[in-house]
Amino acid sequence: MPNQHTRFIFVTGGVLSSLGKGLAAASLAALLQLRGYKVRLRKLEPYINVDPGTMSPYQHGEVYVTDDGAETDLDLGHYERFTNVTATKADAVTTGQIYSEVIAKERRGDFLGATVMVVPHITDAIKAKIFADLEDEDFLICEIGGTVGDIEGLPYLEAIRQIGHELGNSRTLFLHLTLLPYIPSAGELKTKPSQHSVKELQGMGIQPDILLCRCSQPIPHEMKQKLSLFCNIQPDRVIAALDVDTIYQVPIHYHEEGMDRAVCDFFGLKDSKVPDLTPWKNLVQKIREPEGKVEIAIVGKYTQHKDAYKSLVEAITHGGVSQNVDVKVHWIESEDFEENPQKYDEIIHSVNGILVPGGFGKRGTGGKLRAIQYARENKVPYLGICFGMQLAVIEFCRNVLGIENATSTEFCEAGEPVICLLKEWLSASGYETRTEADDLGGSMRLGAYPCNLKKGTKAYNAYGSKEQISERHRHRYEVNMLFKDQMEAQGLIFSGLSPDGHLPEVIENVNHPWFVGVQFHPELKSRPFGPHPLFAAFINAALQQSRIF
Ligand code: GLN
Repeated sequence: MPNQHTRFIFVTGGVLSSLGKGLAAASLAALLQLRGYKVRLRKLEPYINVDPGTMSPYQHGEVYVTDDGAETDLDLGHYERFTNVTATKADAVTTGQIYSEVIAKERRGDFLGATVMVVPHITDAIKAKIFADLEDEDFLICEIGGTVGDIEGLPYLEAIRQIGHELGNSRTLFLHLTLLPYIPSAGELKTKPSQHSVKELQGMGIQPDILLCRCSQPIPHEMKQKLSLFCNIQPDRVIAALDVDTIYQVPIHYHEEGMDRAVCDFFGLKDSKVPDLTPWKNLVQKIREPEGKVEIAIVGKYTQHKDAYKSLVEAITHGGVSQNVDVKVHWIESEDFEENPQKYDEIIHSVNGILVPGGFGKRGTGGKLRAIQYARENKVPYLGICFGMQLAVIEFCRNVLGIENATSTEFCEAGEPVICLLKEWLSASGYETRTEADDLGGSMRLGAYPCNLKKGTKAYNAYGSKEQISERHRHRYEVNMLFKDQMEAQGLIFSGLSPDGHLPEVIENVNHPWFVGVQFHPELKSRPFGPHPLFAAFINAALQQSRIF
């Protein structure tokens, strides 16, 4: 059982996926925070993977990493960006984790002869995860992944039904997000898919308390009445979630539609503050009315699938806001760039900055290396993130130091390994060790690690003269320290190192206006109200460059 205090808001989705359940949950959390409440967000994922770390970014989008090293769904990024509440391992639950734990218990004999079943054993384990690791939060907003009707989601719906039954209306609220499609031939929004989706939930014993309807135009009053009547929901709890031009408009829009008021009314909370949305309004205004513009190219492998770079795109937006500029991003697919570089001549020659983000594997590395070489030789501001840093080192070793076969053991066994498998490092719990034979899942260097910055470097300046920073990691390979002196002698300096001095964390080129590579993922810690210093500095460098040419 949970503490006596926390209220639970369960967010489910109907009709189809990609309606923005994560953003809906994050926006509601932000509004409740503005009303003075302490919130926490959590995601329950019905898939069988233990975590999304082994999934292709094409299938699942970005893998978001928490401070404590959990590989999670990208919605946790929305949660952190919208609320600034640091997520933990406990906030990312999957069917894979639940079953692994239940089966391990069964093997130990903990069930004492019982036949282990989905109900109650799996559902009890789900409930335990929902109640775990809570302190004095006023609200836990718990998002159920997938769409109502999915076979995988059934145990989760049963578990939250039970919680609703056990804790009652005063402690639990069911919020269901659906779609009202606009049918041009009828000239109107349609309610039928939402009705069916609510029926499906009702069939499982869950009566939604709030219906949030994604729509491309305002919902007429009569339509809200109809949804209210057919879905058994009070009319003022049928809420429009209109399409908006920036995600940071969502909390403002929800507030105008009465979402946070409906939640407080539901729980009988009469004395909560009226939320002041001025900071959000200012943010949206800055995004909509920038004073200038810079153009950058992102050269990566997953450019067809923008979800793979979710946090990166947000961090760039934040960086743009910090400099009052709109950042136009040109996406360049690295393999195509490798094979048809002339196709991109115009873009690559006109952009004010080049960014190579994180990535895995050999495919497309030639295109990334070409972009890095162009940035280095032509003094175009460059930010290399994780793989983008490692490739910047390879490019430098090949083309400046003349180590022609410089490579990474990740994609080439033969050659001079200037990037090698990370075999040992110091974490908060002692030395971690890895070998080539380890499992792929969960075995990278993950989560937040401290890094010491060298005084007077670009990184040090970008971070406002901080000597130690903490950033999140997700990598299996590292820059080979054996080449450090050689690289530094030619201008590629190691401006950030792990506190024990063993692991390179930041490199920069001193013969260049702004060329920085980082082994960590700064995009994961950028916030709309706290743009990441490296993104701010990179966009600033791009802005300076745009003024020169
Ligand atoms: N593939 C590289 C590694 O594992 C870089 C990882 C990344 O960019 N996240 O070290």
